[in-house]
Amino acid sequence: MHALSDWKIEYRSAFRTVRHLIEAGLVPENQASGYGAVLDKYALFLPVYYANLIDKADPACPIRLQAIPQAAELENPTTPVNDPLGDLQHRPVPRITHRYGNRALLHLTVNCPMYCRYCFRKSLLNEDANQFFDGRVEEALGYIEGETNLEEIILSGGDPLMVSDSLLGETLSRLGRVKHLKRIRIHSRTPVTMPSRVDAGLLAALRQCPLPVVFVTHFNHPREWTEKSRQACLALKPHVHSLLNQSVLLRGVNDSAATLQVLNESIFEAGVLPYYLHQLDQARGTLHFEVPVERGKAIVAELKARLPGYLVPRYVVDTGDRIGKTWLV
Ligand code: SF4
Repeated sequence: MHALSDWKIEYRSAFRTVRHLIEAGLVPENQASGYGAVLDKYALFLPVYYANLIDKADPACPIRLQAIPQAAELENPTTPVNDPLGDLQHRPVPRITHRYGNRALLHLTVNCPMYCRYCFRKSLLNEDANQFFDGRVEEALGYIEGETNLEEIILSGGDPLMVSDSLLGETLSRLGRVKHLKRIRIHSRTPVTMPSRVDAGLLAALRQCPLPVVFVTHFNHPREWTEKSRQACLALKPHVHSLLNQSVLLRGVNDSAATLQVLNESIFEAGVLPYYLHQLDQARGTLHFEVPVERGKAIVAELKARLPGYLVPRYVVDTGDRIGKTWLV
């Protein structure tokens, strides 16, 4: 029997219940039922590594806000929807989102290295998961091979790095043999929430891709930039064509120019370039994180005064239509 790799051990030991949070001293025992009500609708998945970054003395800790459920997730205004970017509408076959002509998303797995409380796929990863993740990867690969307009495949999920090294390597190798494809993009939050995933097996899987790989990390706050995250990014760098970062603008987490300045200067030190700063999508259970667009524009204007252009991310909103992202400034 093979020994489990470190990240699989970490995956198995992640906090999933209110009891785990209470035992870790992250929530008080007398509020168990309130937290339980949130978890009944939106699951908890919190790796111990990321939980250890939480400042237990600070109820407004930016790591806590991203990781620990809040009662506000159950507030249900009419505007937000389950699927704000229309992943289900633009789904020619299971596991594919094909919204733009030359790019498509391949959803490899429902699993994530953490369930981020602000996630725009929150409902697709919870109550709609069976519908969204039905069908086989094989069928999706067949679609990609037949669609000659496609030039770029974006590996998505969930988080695409939550699959085994062998499935990832085989997928990358097969995509690399599709003549009309020019590049592969991988979006993953593993360097942030489970950096142990960036191990020798993952790097070997990346080497199976003959096409240029653009790797997009999802750091939101400088406190996430630990030595382990830095080492993960440094390890990825020689194996990918570009290493970029996208953040979501989140109320109480990173809604200040000073915070984003430190974040973008920190990641640059390991060769990660800021790419997008996303306006929050209108997904159910997440609107307590919303920052008004005018405030976002003011933050980006201040960032432009503080940083060289290459360290200022593009502030964008995704409207879920076929136009793509709209630049807000
Ligand atoms: S890892 Fe990505 S897909 Fe998964 S919950 Fe976090 S933001 Fe959503």
